[in-house]
Amino acid sequence: MTDSFRAILVSKTDEGQKMEFVRLTEADLMEGDVTIDVAHSSVNYKDGLAITGKGPIIRRWPLVPGIDLAGTVRSSSHPKWKAGDKVVLGGWGVGEGHFGGYAEVARVNGDWLVPLPEGFSTADAMAIGVAGYTAMLCVMALEEQGVKPAQGEILVTGAAGGVGSTAIAILAKLGFTVVAATGRPAEEAFLKSLGAASIIDRKELSGPVKPLAKTRWAGVIDTVGSTMLANAISQVMPEGTVAATGLAGGMDLPTSVAPFILRGVRLIGVNSVTTPIARRMECWKRLSHDLDKSKLAALTTHVKLDDVPRIAADIVAGKVRGRVVVDVKA
Ligand code: NDP
Repeated sequence: MTDSFRAILVSKTDEGQKMEFVRLTEADLMEGDVTIDVAHSSVNYKDGLAITGKGPIIRRWPLVPGIDLAGTVRSSSHPKWKAGDKVVLGGWGVGEGHFGGYAEVARVNGDWLVPLPEGFSTADAMAIGVAGYTAMLCVMALEEQGVKPAQGEILVTGAAGGVGSTAIAILAKLGFTVVAATGRPAEEAFLKSLGAASIIDRKELSGPVKPLAKTRWAGVIDTVGSTMLANAISQVMPEGTVAATGLAGGMDLPTSVAPFILRGVRLIGVNSVTTPIARRMECWKRLSHDLDKSKLAALTTHVKLDDVPRIAADIVAGKVRGRVVVDVKA
């Protein structure tokens, strides 16, 4: 097919990184055995870093960014997929080292795809996207370590962001008492509408880190890293679990071994990029049960491909609330 389609392309120039809207053809796409008509993508923090150049995300130049996508198979030589199948993709280096979701057509490795889960539209799947799917992986990580609602409060940091807001909605539905740590007190009503029992100002977790602080949390889902994660760890109850998945506040971790060796605190890393397909399928199944569609709609904004550069700058500045779906063909 020689028809051209619209895409965002990021290139490296002598002056730095350049982002432009271009028209590509299938011949411009990278290798892969499944070609997809992309209906929706989303804007994740990593996309913000890639497009603004504020983080070393892009490993191949030029690149179509967009770490997730959902759409319909246009053609396939992969045994699992045929034209017309609805599929979802997130991670696997898409939007980092392989052309991603900010194009009307994508060509990818069929092994990276999962079927669009029953009951979800492509827009729903991208309202969840990598961020929401990672939120579910974090909840599963807490559960697998034995964290239960009766044990006490769960802290969610970066609460008004994509991973944080989705995690709150899931945890609340599962019966957990959720405390949302946010730098945006104006979002209190929003966070409570998702199911947070209370909110705390993130400044409370931004001061000097004590090796052991007064305990409060049965579990933590952290999207911020650095001092906030270290303070959260120091406040976890004996045998409690922290699921760490993000670095919105920094990549360092100024903690000590005290919470681990004196309280048996567990620090579990959550990485969504290379999650095996069976775990992805389990995760999407859980999302279909444990995330209310009405809450998903409430935390989601819809934009066009033209809006992606603006949203990318906003998400890196910590100004995006919840999740942002990109209607790629709009
Ligand atoms: P968002 O920007 O939507 O959310 C991040 C939130 O963190 C913000 O909304 C803000 O919440 C808070 N925040 C931002 N900057 C700071 C800061 N300097 N100090 C403290 N808090 C801050 O991003 P996502 O939800 O898409 O992603 C969150 C993190 O998780 C990112 O670091 C991302 O890279 C990571 N991630 C990792 C994955 C993995 O596989 N490991 C997968 C998906 C995401 P508030 O205003 O409420 O304080």
